[in-house]
Amino acid sequence: MTIHAVGTPAADQPLGPMQITRRDTGPHDVRIEIAFCGICHSDLHQARSEWAGTLYPCVPGHEIVGRVTAVGAHVTSHKPGDLVGVGCIVDSCQHCADCEDGLENYCDGMIGTYNGPTEDTPGHTLGGYSQAIVVHERYVLKITHPEDQLAAVAPLLCAGITTYSPLRHWGAGPGKKVGVVGIGGLGHMGVKLAHAMGAHVVAFTTSPDKREAAKALGADEVVISKDADEMWAHAQSFDFILNTVAAPHDLDAFLALLKRDGTMALVGAPATPHPSPNVFNFIMRRRSLAGSMIGGIPETQEMLDFCARHGITADIEMIRADQIEEAYERMLGGDVKYRFVMDIATMA
Ligand SMILES: [Zn+2]
Ligand SMILES: [Zn+2]
Repeated sequence: MTIHAVGTPAADQPLGPMQITRRDTGPHDVRIEIAFCGICHSDLHQARSEWAGTLYPCVPGHEIVGRVTAVGAHVTSHKPGDLVGVGCIVDSCQHCADCEDGLENYCDGMIGTYNGPTEDTPGHTLGGYSQAIVVHERYVLKITHPEDQLAAVAPLLCAGITTYSPLRHWGAGPGKKVGVVGIGGLGHMGVKLAHAMGAHVVAFTTSPDKREAAKALGADEVVISKDADEMWAHAQSFDFILNTVAAPHDLDAFLALLKRDGTMALVGAPATPHPSPNVFNFIMRRRSLAGSMIGGIPETQEMLDFCARHGITADIEMIRADQIEEAYERMLGGDVKYRFVMDIATMA
């Protein structure tokens, strides 16, 4: 079936309208009419081939929400009419140790929602800036938020799970002091989630004008990371720091804030490496520096259910399909609070 999409034929071309096809609904497939798709920084990097290996035509988008319109004969977990979501993963090998553990995000055979290998036309996956998608039922998530929140649920499928998974893994909760570095698309979710988990949350930002906004998101304290005195006041006090900043920066300044046995996890992917941290910052207090990439399918469902229970969505600004290039430029300038979401109905 041919549908409308927004994508680009080459790295140096702007995104614009195009037609794509979706496969027929197979026995284990769910067909979804997409209502909204969040705009992630990864979309921009992929569309412009700033990471190696973008395949064209490129249709980005992996924060997908919509309604089921058809299911295959063997599908048991979803039915037509259901509100559902699709995140960064549309397939995996389904039998390795990672898949068995529900950590499909770490499977060597993980297939991304866009730019991944597939037998479908045109030979690589095409993402959610499109009217419909067909996905194996295993990778389709149930949405239990009220329907009028659907657009603001979309960013949970990448920004939400990318921050929820490390917060859970490293035990954010009551009695824990948790830092969130960078208050953007990822960081604003990190603050909301850590707060709802019951942690004492400290937001780190370079912009003094974000202080009140970070508190409104749920931060108990806000530290201007360029202010050495403010930073020093928190030395050796954190159980965990979630660092969402993708730009290369001084990791030592944050490692020094961890308690003995504390961990800082990086979730931003810098185009050029961070300056090497000082080994003494690890050995003196048995600290760890770690990383984390999105989350598995069961954990993504757990995150959506947690957010529905706690009334958590992303703070979004809606755009029309023809505003995508403008949205990318504003994202590059940090001018969005905190996530753009495309209204797919404006595509027809
Ligand atoms: Zn993303
Ligand atoms: Zn696997």
